[in-house]
Amino acid sequence: MKTDKPWILERSLGELQDELRTAGFRDYTAWQVFQWLYQKNNQDPASWSNINKQDREKLSGLYDCGCRPVLSVQSDDQGTRKYLIGLADGPEGPRRGGLKIEAVLIREKDHYTFCLSTQVGCALACGFCATGTMGFRRNLRAGEILSQILTLKKELGDPGAKVNLVFMGMGEPLLNYDNLSLALQRIISPDGMGIPPRHISVSTVGILENLKKLERNFPQVKIAFSLNAPNNDLRGRLMPISRRETLGSLLTYFRGKKRRQRLTCEYVLLKGVNDAPAQARELVRLLHGIPAKINLIPYNENPSLPFQRPEEATVEKFRAELIRHGLTVITRWSKGQSIASACGQLAIQLD
Ligand code: SF4
Repeated sequence: MKTDKPWILERSLGELQDELRTAGFRDYTAWQVFQWLYQKNNQDPASWSNINKQDREKLSGLYDCGCRPVLSVQSDDQGTRKYLIGLADGPEGPRRGGLKIEAVLIREKDHYTFCLSTQVGCALACGFCATGTMGFRRNLRAGEILSQILTLKKELGDPGAKVNLVFMGMGEPLLNYDNLSLALQRIISPDGMGIPPRHISVSTVGILENLKKLERNFPQVKIAFSLNAPNNDLRGRLMPISRRETLGSLLTYFRGKKRRQRLTCEYVLLKGVNDAPAQARELVRLLHGIPAKINLIPYNENPSLPFQRPEEATVEKFRAELIRHGLTVITRWSKGQSIASACGQLAIQLD
């Protein structure tokens, strides 16, 4: 049901303390509420047992305390699950007629990865990406980012499970910096979810001003730079943003920035486009002076897009060429292709 009450996941601890104080609650109630919401992952005020019944009813009357609803789930046989989540837009609320996003839960050897969305659609229209074909509808609010994590954690059913968060779902996170930053504060804070920042990666095409802000404000959050080409000309053809945010200025920034770990560069390998050994050597020259680790991602094909995945032998040749020149390379064969939840495959019909 659509509700006009303010959404409690949109409130920082300080804001909630101020509001609850004004509404006549005790000072520590906001802190108790935060514990239920984020640490115990319980969004049902009726069951918040350390808060008295009268206050629980009052809280229910004041706030929408729930997560956004899961509309459908698709699973593959490797334990990857894709969740379609309804947002509150639309005359009939989140379940019907409103906007939707996708979030993906990936089972790894010793942990889980949550792949999270930050926008409904994406304005950047990278040629190889299904999300880019959707166009852009709007930024997600901080609560909508947090709600994805709470929902996926609940699905795990194991509160102690080790979780990595990757902002690699729908949208360019750094074009929604303010909401991403609000969400990160609550994800990392011990009063919120308490997830260590080293378990969080933000994938970006490189929106320089906001990248600098992110690295200043959250120095331990990892950056995954979506590179995808060995020069700005080809990158500009694959990723139109590269004409505005050029590789030259981004790499100058990366070269000048001291970081504890190597910079992760993502390189989606597209058959006959960016997968030749000569392009691998050009990539080595491009990254000269930047301690970098390359994640090679053989393309996950989309029926609506013209690109293809290279043969395994081509991927291996490209990788070998990079390694021969001293780069650290990991080939990432994406999971979840059978349910279109792999890297670059998230896309839904916007109503
Ligand atoms: S790759 Fe990322 S930035 Fe590019 S269109 Fe897809 S979601 Fe947007």
